[in-house]
Amino acid sequence: MRTKIVAGNWKMNKTLAEAQTLTTELMTLVEAEVTNAAAIVLCVPFPYLPTLQQQLGTNARMKLGAQNCSEHEWGAYTGEVSVPMLSAMHVPYVIIGHSERRQYFGETNALMAKKVDAALKAGLTPIFCCGEPLDVREKGEHETLVREQVEQSLFHLPADAIAKVVIAYEPVWAIGTGKTATARQAQDMHAVIRRLLASRYGQNVADGIPVLYGGSVKADNAKELFSCEDVDGGLVGGASLKAREFTEIIKAIG
Ligand code: PEP
Repeated sequence: MRTKIVAGNWKMNKTLAEAQTLTTELMTLVEAEVTNAAAIVLCVPFPYLPTLQQQLGTNARMKLGAQNCSEHEWGAYTGEVSVPMLSAMHVPYVIIGHSERRQYFGETNALMAKKVDAALKAGLTPIFCCGEPLDVREKGEHETLVREQVEQSLFHLPADAIAKVVIAYEPVWAIGTGKTATARQAQDMHAVIRRLLASRYGQNVADGIPVLYGGSVKADNAKELFSCEDVDGGLVGGASLKAREFTEIIKAIG
């Protein structure tokens, strides 16, 4: 059985006080209402990690994640945050290769491969994002592009390392747009990713890797998306900023 995961990507939103309020609300709602065993991850802005870590305390249900990391461990890289820094703060997850990093910061598949290596070396779980822009989907080249992204950023890993990675398929045209992929579109691409992993690492390894869907997941579409065979949860942006909505999404795992 693959681990089910619901991860919230808060992006560059909320003051520290607002972040603390949201965390308190979530802790209360999750404790009272969530009965499934899904892992819940809050990917919050870097400066909030220590405070929210303290706030969560020993809460077994919710873990923190960073939204990015440097490929370097230490040194003269002004403005960067390294994985050993995250690891020393006991942050267990890090998003790598979000489409906004690809689009606005020019991050390449090759750079993401180095970030994935850095994360795994420090014992963090990378949530590796892949997904196609609208023009690529319209040309019918989405499978080819996503294959390239996965191959170029992950396929240098040995089987025991890729087994520790979480993949998030996030069609760029569905991120923050209110347009969600249909359950069929999501399942089709997740199955493509699973087959690709199986072709390189064997079915056993492929079957153990969680593949999350991301792109305008909401309380009212989560159930249908999460019921797809190869969809193992979600990476949620906008809807993770509202405690009630995010809780309903977590509950939709079933
Ligand atoms: C995301 O940022 O990863 C995302 C999926 O955003 P949204 O849910 O707002 O589309």
